Amino acid sequence: MEFPRLVYADRAAASAGTRAALRTRDGISVELDQMVSTASRGCGQVYELFADRFSECVDNFLRDLESPYREIALELATQRGYYTPQDRMEALRERANDGSCSLTGIDPWCCPCGRHE
Ligand SMILES: [Zn+2]
Repeated sequence: MEFPRLVYADRAAASAGTRAALRTRDGISVELDQMVSTASRGCGQVYELFADRFSECVDNFLRDLESPYREIALELATQRGYYTPQDRMEALRERANDGSCSLTGIDPWCCPCGRHE
């Protein structure tokens, strides 16, 4: 069967292309911009929601990268609003302390997250 093998070869070539792109600053930048647009979909105007989603994507992304691309990605992600897992834990603790929503950091009376009925 010729066809499945061709499909497989194409897919392997495409993913090799993606990996090669992630060995350049521009390629990493494009990848992060896509994460920004994915993360900002469906979180209204709530910056904290965006930052949490985006940061989770970035954590997964960083796990697959090696030095020095990892450091480049981290720098570019930080410029786009990335918070480290430690930063996020800290933010959660602060929100718990001041009684604001643990998800958005907004006062529960006007929080749009839908968990304060
Ligand atoms: Zn809320």
